[in-house]
Amino acid sequence: MILRNFKTVSHISFGRGCFERLDEILAQKRKNSNSFIVFLVDDVFSGGKLSDRLPVRSHDLLSYVNVDNEPETTYIDALTDKIRAFSDHLPEGIIGIGGGSTMDIAKAVSLMLTNPGSSKEYQGWDLIKNPAVYHVGIPTLSGTGAEASRTAILISPEKKLGINSDFTVFDQIVLDPDLLSGAPSHQRFHTGMDCYIHCIESLSGTYLNAFSRAYGEKALDLCREVFLEDGTDTDEKLMMASYFGGMSIAYSQVGICHALSYGLSYALKLHHGIGNCIAFNQLEQYYPAGVREFRFMMKKQGIKLPRDIAKDIDDDKMEKMINVALMLEPLWENALGADWQSIMTRDRIRELYQMM
Ligand code: NAD
Ligand code: ZN
Repeated sequence: MILRNFKTVSHISFGRGCFERLDEILAQKRKNSNSFIVFLVDDVFSGGKLSDRLPVRSHDLLSYVNVDNEPETTYIDALTDKIRAFSDHLPEGIIGIGGGSTMDIAKAVSLMLTNPGSSKEYQGWDLIKNPAVYHVGIPTLSGTGAEASRTAILISPEKKLGINSDFTVFDQIVLDPDLLSGAPSHQRFHTGMDCYIHCIESLSGTYLNAFSRAYGEKALDLCREVFLEDGTDTDEKLMMASYFGGMSIAYSQVGICHALSYGLSYALKLHHGIGNCIAFNQLEQYYPAGVREFRFMMKKQGIKLPRDIAKDIDDDKMEKMINVALMLEPLWENALGADWQSIMTRDRIRELYQMM
């Protein structure tokens, strides 16, 4: 077993209405009259009720971010420059409010304010040298586990890969189930399935240990309650499932579905949640019980997936997509063992993409 020693989020606020305590939490960080805080908020909330509830003060910078595309390194660099131009000193905090994309933007910007160069230079494992600016994650969609993880996933010209480091982890997260209420049902499902697939891939992987199993099994139970039963408190349950799913993969890894899904996001600009669903639906050979249950959840929730998404991909794009998938070595090793390269050839990956 690989022995890890990883950082976790140090402060967590959970419960309906806890968003209202954000101002109090941030007040402790505001040192003097020059202090400012940066709010990076998904632009889906611009002009809506949530925007009236943001505890933004006169010196602060509020910037709505667009996540029509998953976060790109050029976007992170531009936001970092915008904050540097706003003030000659660093902000006291970066607050990310939105789904996984917005939370990853907040993580990446908080790192890039204290580390030189472009964010694309830090995609990989433990390349960050300096601690980030204090950063807070506030999910408005649940499933990615981005609130718990030590990565900020970014797309650059050649790859989709996270900035993985202990410094990436949020200092504070605010988990208020009320914030999930406006999410469209298909988006809620796709992002929720990200969590379900985290659990299936973690629980069937070769990196599994008692720590990952404990979190993964509980998260899986919660996903079943949310997507298979007609119970109550589903937003609370989904929020905790997402966090637990993130903790499970912190000590194990995801697997085949995620490696393939990274290629789909890179080449076809498919968002992570729907990309995972499309990939997972073709992986019955590797995750038989999980895929069957997933299809049952889709039926119960009335979700239909797009078909033949790879049919117009030219050879060049297909090869790039395979390259991106193959870069995720720990994922393949977790899924298939040390000998994964002899099992998962380029031809097999191409075949799987063509089935989607
Ligand atoms: P997202 O953040 O990409 O958002 C998807 C859509 O939902 C967007 O249009 C957004 O505006 C909208 N949205 C968000 N909250 C809403 C709300 N409450 N009401 C209405 N609309 C809302 O979706 P996601 O699935 O949460 O995140 C996917 C991203 O997370 C990808 O970029 C992926 O790479 C990343 N990710 C990160 C990690 C990690 O550990 N860092 C793990 C998995 C995925
Ligand atoms: Zn995921």
